[in-house]
Amino acid sequence: MNEDTPAILGGHATFANGPPPWPPERPAVRDALLAAYADGGWGQYHGPRVNDLETRLAVRYGVPHALTCASGTLAVETALRAVGVGTGDEVIMAAYEYESNFLSIIAIGAKPVLVDISETNANFDPSQLDAARSPATKAVLVSHIHGGFAPIDDVVIWAKNERIAVIEDAAQSPAANDTETPKAIVADIRTLSFGGSKILTAGRGGAILFRNVNAFQRAKLWLNRGVQQWAALSELQAAVLLPQLDTLTAEVTLRLSGMQVLAADMPGLRMLPGDGLYKIGFWFDTVACGLSRDLFVKAMRAEGVAFDAGFKALHRSRAPSRFRAIGTLPCASLAHDAIVMLHHPIMLGGRLAGQQVARAIAKTYRNAEQIRAEFPPLS
Ligand SMILES: *Cc1c(COP(=O)(O)O)cnc(C)c1O
Repeated sequence: MNEDTPAILGGHATFANGPPPWPPERPAVRDALLAAYADGGWGQYHGPRVNDLETRLAVRYGVPHALTCASGTLAVETALRAVGVGTGDEVIMAAYEYESNFLSIIAIGAKPVLVDISETNANFDPSQLDAARSPATKAVLVSHIHGGFAPIDDVVIWAKNERIAVIEDAAQSPAANDTETPKAIVADIRTLSFGGSKILTAGRGGAILFRNVNAFQRAKLWLNRGVQQWAALSELQAAVLLPQLDTLTAEVTLRLSGMQVLAADMPGLRMLPGDGLYKIGFWFDTVACGLSRDLFVKAMRAEGVAFDAGFKALHRSRAPSRFRAIGTLPCASLAHDAIVMLHHPIMLGGRLAGQQVARAIAKTYRNAEQIRAEFPPLS
């Protein structure tokens, strides 16, 4: 065994201790938890923290109204309901997308209409909007995924002429495209997630940002049952999120510095362009690598680098009776087979982490033949 032996074959892992712990140590979060203990916020329905968080989110994103709720998934469903999506309506979305968005549309009794994605960054491609529209079209749901940014402005311009609502799911990119100066929200509604793997995390939670008071009121009504909100964020969750808003920009910038190093020296993978940083996407070429995608992921994980296969395209994984597809969706099909994604925490190691990940990838490619020999495909 030498220095170049891949960890999957018994060599030293590039990251000897595996991927970094998540969530990371955050003294300000610890202080916030202790403060919520000291003043009893940990055991109360109501306190100042949820309101503070909603106010700070509205300020950061430049909207008049913000609501928090139990998850990013509920935030998307609430947004759909708030713009009036109901039974029999159609919602246009990308065929390669976060699965629960598809299911949220169906949960309301509406039908997803699937359009293809961009070959460049695997995000929503607006070029098929005209083909996708029908008299039943009520909304377009656009997510920013894999670190990329969908051309939301183009979608909004198109939808204005058609009087169709636009919902922007920014669960994966609370600071994408606006690391320094938050960009104005152009969609009718933007949603966020505070789930356990996200850049801003409380373990669970979500938020909905509104440009328009009517949608805000409808969302509030839907989330309230009598005097209670039935799937609310707690004071304790708001307590841990508030200090993260202070460090969001710095932490995203740190990760980006690592990604820039990696992007400059990344043999064999093609990184999807963008400055969002959740599950950073790459086009993976099995032939160029010499390993199947699953085996590449396994080898990288042995090196302590948390790669995963990308999402399943919805037209490849869901019953055809549940959606309407526009065209043959070639890019979404390609993404289904060929995307790998890198989980963001490793990039909190900055430039050094970027170099190390590049080394781990290069080592895996160099030794592909040997790895393949040890792990023959199951027949
Ligand atoms: C994580 C995620 C969600 C859902 O958020 P949860 O808080 O986990 O329910 C929605 N959309 C996208 C694009 C996501 O990545």
